[in-house]
Amino acid sequence: MSNVFILVDHASGKIANTAGELSAFGKRIGGVTALVLAEPGTGAAIAEELKAFEIEKIIIVENVAFSQHGIPAIADAVASVLASHSPKALLISTSARGKEIAARVAVQSNSGLITDAIDISENLIATQSIFGGSFTVHSHVKTGTPIITIRPSAIDFTATPSNPTIENVTVEISDIAKLVSINNIQPAVKGGRPELTEAKIVVSGGRGTNGDFSKVESFADSLGAAVGASRAATDAGWYPHTHQVGQTGKTVSPQLYVACGISGAIQHRAGMQTSKNIIAVNKDPEAPIFDLADLGIVGDLFAVLPQAEAAIIAKKR
Ligand SMILES: Cc1cc2nc3c(=O)[nH]c(=O)nc-3n(C[C@H](O)[C@H](O)[C@H](O)COP(=O)(O)OP(=O)(O)OC[C@H]3O[C@@H](n4cnc5c(N)ncnc54)[C@H](O)[C@@H]3O)c2cc1C
Repeated sequence: MSNVFILVDHASGKIANTAGELSAFGKRIGGVTALVLAEPGTGAAIAEELKAFEIEKIIIVENVAFSQHGIPAIADAVASVLASHSPKALLISTSARGKEIAARVAVQSNSGLITDAIDISENLIATQSIFGGSFTVHSHVKTGTPIITIRPSAIDFTATPSNPTIENVTVEISDIAKLVSINNIQPAVKGGRPELTEAKIVVSGGRGTNGDFSKVESFADSLGAAVGASRAATDAGWYPHTHQVGQTGKTVSPQLYVACGISGAIQHRAGMQTSKNIIAVNKDPEAPIFDLADLGIVGDLFAVLPQAEAAIIAKKR
């Protein structure tokens, strides 16, 4: 019985989350093989980190073309390993990078592709939340190897150490995948908080902050959360557009989403309504966000958040 492949995107620096979540989904379908694409001499160290998860096998492909030619070379290598190993499916974490790899591999391997799934069943039926969360779609790939990208934080996982077998595979990268060369890479400057789309907890502020995000940020830090914002807040220049949650911003699906001073417009909901638990803090008891919330607190966020933060800090002591 062939395994399910998971692509470990070590380039994102998020091996633990990616491998943990993808292997948790992969286990439902069958044994899990992690596919590691690495620079020469670095695959073994990545494989070592992967032993923290329930993985049966690790395939290491090392090639200097991955850094020289980027995603086309990575996709080329993945398609080549797929052709030689015929896995049951390939699971990739949803991100701009993950979706580009998935799309290229799907074309190269003549396979069906499902992006941004929020769940997968043991018989490979993927669940997507589409059109701003208005519809839930269940779909199944009928052609080739099912390639499915899965939204980060869509599943809770516990690290379970394993002793996977290691296979080193050599692949030839095609000339067409080398047509673009990378000359220079500048890593984005990141703050100390987790990445919005990958965070387990997101605390977002809206127009109700009146431009003062200090209480939202401080509360987020007490939980180790990422900070998001509504479009009203980003359009006003109160918070960077890169933190906007919603239809024209980012889609998040954390374990906990805390909306502070956000009314709950449909365009905002589109980006957060698949969150597992939603808490809303709003001084208007009629705010639509309360229709969606698992827990609603009617009150002024500037009074509620400091109290909640103090309680969290006290609990941690
Ligand atoms: C094409 C299109 C795309 C869009 N895309 C997005 C998107 O991606 N993301 C997005 O968010 N929006 C988007 N919008 C905008 C969206 O329609 C709303 O205008 C926006 O979400 C409102 O933001 P808000 O909830 O912060 O502000 P408001 O709707 O003004 O709500 C502010 C809330 O704060 C509460 N409040 C005020 N003071 C306090 C206080 N001290 N304590 C507690 N509560 C308080 C108020 O009761 C109110 O409910 C889009 C709109 C369009 C047309």
